[in-house]
Amino acid sequence: MPGMGPDYAISLSGPRTVALYREAMRQIPGAWHRTAAGAGLVGSDGSIHPTIFAEMSALAARTGAINLGQGFPDEDGPSEVLEVARAAIANGVNQYPPGRGIPDLRASIAEHQQRFYGLRLDPERDVIVTAGATEALAAALLALLGEPDDEIVVLEPFYDSYAAVAALAGARLVTVPLRWPDFRPDLDDLRAAVTDRTRVILVNDPHNPTGAMLDDEIRDEIVRLADRHDAVIVTDEVYEHLVFDRPHVPIATRPGAWERTLTISSGGKTFSTTGWKIGWISGPAPLVDAVLAVKQFLTYVNGSPFQPAIATGLRLDDAFFSGIAGALRTKRDLLGAGLRTAGFEVSTPAGSYFTVADARPLGVTDAAAFCRALPERAGVVAIPLTAFVTPGRRPDYATLVRFAACKRVDVLEEAASRLSALG
Ligand code: GLN
Repeated sequence: MPGMGPDYAISLSGPRTVALYREAMRQIPGAWHRTAAGAGLVGSDGSIHPTIFAEMSALAARTGAINLGQGFPDEDGPSEVLEVARAAIANGVNQYPPGRGIPDLRASIAEHQQRFYGLRLDPERDVIVTAGATEALAAALLALLGEPDDEIVVLEPFYDSYAAVAALAGARLVTVPLRWPDFRPDLDDLRAAVTDRTRVILVNDPHNPTGAMLDDEIRDEIVRLADRHDAVIVTDEVYEHLVFDRPHVPIATRPGAWERTLTISSGGKTFSTTGWKIGWISGPAPLVDAVLAVKQFLTYVNGSPFQPAIATGLRLDDAFFSGIAGALRTKRDLLGAGLRTAGFEVSTPAGSYFTVADARPLGVTDAAAFCRALPERAGVVAIPLTAFVTPGRRPDYATLVRFAACKRVDVLEEAASRLSALG
């Protein structure tokens, strides 16, 4: 391996240094390469790109554009929740929490699943707290995948970490396309994707980046297929409370699903605390213990003062939960109207932070190039959907753009006014 020291530390910008750096990276063996490649982050010249979220947030910071790219709110969540974390730090809740998470948070997660969905969890055995949904996903996939020929089925487009972790685990990613404009999976596509090689069906509902929500026909077909092929269903429900027209339904509540389903969520979106990274995974104790076997060697534990705060959040009254959904629905409508006025075609999302718009009516043929130019043209940052799909499917999503609605109303109004200049 060539020296990794001063050359790189001094400057990464000269052409010779860049070439040396890339060569040094290429020679580093290990699983990092297939992880980056799985997420589509290796350039044709072998260079490693940052994630689309890092790239677009850096672009927004550099240009001063309004960041409707990376999905994070620009307002604080409920003050009662923030206050519990402050008090916890002041009162010495600063050491390792128990490996499965503090008992009170696990109890509040069980109460939440019962209150909203009628699911009955044993907080001692059926729940573990994780470093965000991201760690829960990584631990679950690393726990369940890994034999030769293992496959994982995901809806495409997909959140970036799915493909990265599937690749890290050495599994083959099999995708079920969600098509413009309603992004509902086709039942035949689903049936064709799931086989005896399928170890995991990973279902993100409400869905990032499309904002689509599944219906019971799809959920029940997923359960039937998982049962027939002996696969585990892993869900990603981080937008469970950000739904606009109908209540969220966890797959775990459907007949026959509980015993083969791991349900993942997190406090980041619900309580506008994306930086706290308090997530959880729940399901039958043997599956949860298999995940714990991996999770305990990823982070072991995290966020001790934030855990009691999220427990408080999960116990807030119904008005809080309907309030956040209503506020985001208003923002979705504002963003959608602004995008239509600017000349986009818009797919109206049923949930999540996001709205997908087609830039084709604006003469756009390549949404990635359009997004790179957008800060200059209109002072707004957005994300091309091609960042969420496998290379072979990029043409199908070539003109689609994801905009985040989780920003202050005045910010969305300003973004809409800037985008109207495109027309
Ligand atoms: N979930 C956020 C989004 O989709 C980004 C999180 C991240 O940056 N990894 O925008």
